[in-house]
Amino acid sequence: MSLAGAFLTAWIAAGQQARRIGDADLRNAGKTGGEWLTYGLNYNENRFSPLDQINTGNISRLGLAWSYDVGPGGGSQEATPLVWDGTLYGITNWSVVFAVDVRTGKEKWRWDPEVNQTAVRPKICCGIVNRGLALYESLIIAPTIDGRLEALDAGTGKVVWEARVEYPQDNYTLTMAPRIVKGKVIIGVSGSEYPVRGFFDAYDAQTGRRAWRFYTVPGDPSKPFENEAMRKAAATWESDFWKLGGGGTVWDGMAYDAEANLLYVGTGNAGPWPEDLRKQTGKANLYVCSIVAVNPDTGVLQWYYQVVPADVWDYDSVQQMILADLTIRGRQRKVLMQANKDGFYYVIDRISGEFISGQPFAEVTWAKGLDEKTGLPIVNQEAHYGKDSKVTLAPGPGGAHNWSPMSFNPNTGLVYIPTASASSFTFQSDPNFNYRPGRMNMGIVFGGFGQQPASPATSVPTRPSPPAIGPTPPEGQRGGALVAWDPVTQKERWRRPGGGSIGGGTVTTAGNLVLQVVPDGRLIAYSADKGDKLLEVQTGLRGGMGPPITYLLDGKQYVSVMGGTGPVTNPFGGGAGENRGGANRGGANTGTTAPGTAGAAEPNTPGGNAPPLPNANNAVLPKLLTFVLDGKEPLPVAGTPATPPR
Ligand code: CA
Repeated sequence: MSLAGAFLTAWIAAGQQARRIGDADLRNAGKTGGEWLTYGLNYNENRFSPLDQINTGNISRLGLAWSYDVGPGGGSQEATPLVWDGTLYGITNWSVVFAVDVRTGKEKWRWDPEVNQTAVRPKICCGIVNRGLALYESLIIAPTIDGRLEALDAGTGKVVWEARVEYPQDNYTLTMAPRIVKGKVIIGVSGSEYPVRGFFDAYDAQTGRRAWRFYTVPGDPSKPFENEAMRKAAATWESDFWKLGGGGTVWDGMAYDAEANLLYVGTGNAGPWPEDLRKQTGKANLYVCSIVAVNPDTGVLQWYYQVVPADVWDYDSVQQMILADLTIRGRQRKVLMQANKDGFYYVIDRISGEFISGQPFAEVTWAKGLDEKTGLPIVNQEAHYGKDSKVTLAPGPGGAHNWSPMSFNPNTGLVYIPTASASSFTFQSDPNFNYRPGRMNMGIVFGGFGQQPASPATSVPTRPSPPAIGPTPPEGQRGGALVAWDPVTQKERWRRPGGGSIGGGTVTTAGNLVLQVVPDGRLIAYSADKGDKLLEVQTGLRGGMGPPITYLLDGKQYVSVMGGTGPVTNPFGGGAGENRGGANRGGANTGTTAPGTAGAAEPNTPGGNAPPLPNANNAVLPKLLTFVLDGKEPLPVAGTPATPPR
C-alpha cells in the first residue's frame, strides 16, 4: 500500500471511530430508515420507516437471517432494540445489555448490571421488564430495573459513567426507555401501585450529572414547593395525601418537538386507586393521568393536559404519544396523539395543549364521551365505586391500549393501535384497607393480587354497568385486535383479530406495510392501507414479545424482534397458574396478556384467566430474531430446552 493509501485507510478508520450521534442526528433520526437510533425511531415517535425494499409484493419471501440467545429471561422481552453503524443494541428484562453484529448475528459484547434479583423482585409491581436504551455520542445509555442509569461505551460495553435515579428501597423501579434531548438523558420512574411520588429526570449525557427533576405530584406541604407547578398542583390535593406518595409515575411515553422545544411526558395513576381511600373525593389531583409539556433545558412546565382528572380506574396516561401535522376541519394542526388506557383516542394541539378531538377506539363504559370543547370525560355516575358497591367497567386497568407500540403511517394517514377491544374489570374499594409502607397499596378488592393478602370479595351490591360506547368488537373477537384508526375523522378504518395492549407492537413502512408482533409469538404483516394479511409467522417464542423494528444495512432491509420469557418466577409470590383476580375480571383481556402478570407492563392486569407462568419445563428461552428477504435459517423451534434461571 502506498503511503497515501495508508494515510487514507487510517483517516477512514479514524473517521469511523469518530462517528458519533449528536443532536442533529437525533433530530433527523429515522429519515433514511437505515438505522434505529431512538426508542420510537424518531422524535415524533411514529415508528414509520421510509424503507420500501420489503413491501406488499415480496413480504411473503421474508425469512430468518439469524437468531441470538439473549439470556435466561425471567420476564418479558419488551425492549425496542437500537441499530447504529452495523450493530444492534438490545436490553433484556433483567437489564442485561448486549451488542450484536447485524451482518452475522455474532455477539460483540454483553454487559450485566448484576441486579440483586432476590432483593429487587418484591419491588416490581408489574413484570420484570425493560423497554429500551438510548444512544448519544458513542454511549449506550441503559436504565437498570434497580434504579441505575449506566452509560456504556458502544464499542466495548465498558461503563463510562453511572447515575443513581432512585432506589428500590424507596419502591421505585426503572422500566421505560430513556430518550435523549439536547444532550440530556430523560427518564422517569415506575411504581404507582406502591406508595411513591412520581417524577422524571434529566441527566447530562456526557457526565451523568443530574440537570433537573420534575415531580409529577406535590410533596410534603410543610416543605417549600419545588416550583410553581407544584404550588398549583397542591391546590388540587387534600389532607395528608403525600404520606401515601401520590403516584403519577412516568413509565413509558415521551416525545419531543425540536422546533417548539417542548418535551412531552405522560404520567400514571394516583395511588391508592380509589379516591375515598386517597381522601380526595372530587379533587383533580394534578398532575396524575396527564400529559405534561416541559422545557427540556430547564424542566419547567409549559402546559399540561390532564386526561383523566380524579382518576380512580388506574388509567395511567403514559401511553405512547405520536406527533404529526394533520389537516383537521380545514386547518393545519400540529398535534400530539395518544391512544389512552381509558379507551379514547386523543388528538391535542401540541403547542398549546388545547384539546382538538377524542373518540373511543375500544369499548368504553366508564364515561359517556368527552366534552367537545374541553376534552374532559363525561363520567358515568355508576363508575364511582366505593366500599359499599362494586361495578364492572371498561376498559379495565390493563387498558384499551397499554405500552405496546402503535405506529402512524403518513402515506395512509392511519394509526395502527394494538388494542384490547373489550377489556373490563370489577372495581370495589377495599373495606379493610390499611396503608402498608413499602408494599403495594392499590386499595381495591381483588383476589390474590398484590403484596398484601387480598381482602375477600365482600357481598356488596353490584351496580349495573353503564352502557357501552365505542366500536363493538365482532362476535368471537373480544380479545386483542389491531385497529387501523383515522385520527382526522376519529374513525376506525379496519381491524384484524390478534394482538392487544400488552406485548408485541407494530412498525409501519413506506412499503405499505404494517408489521405486527402479537403477544402469542406471531409476526404478522398487513397491507397498511387495506389491512390485507400478507404474512404470518409463528416465531416459536410464544410469549414475552417485544415490538418489531426495521432498518437497512449493505442495501438489505432487516426486521428484528425479541421475545420469549424463559422460566418466570411470579413477582407476586404466588404459585404458577394462580388465579390472579380472574373472577373479578369480566374475561376481557384474555389472549392479549403475555404469560401471567409477569408479561405485563405496569398496572396491568391484575387478573385473569392468564395462562400458567412458564416454568423450566415449558419456557422458551428469550431470543432476538432477525429477518430478511429470502432468509433461509430455520426458526429456533418452539419448545427449545430451557435451563433454570440464575
Ligand atoms: Ca398504574
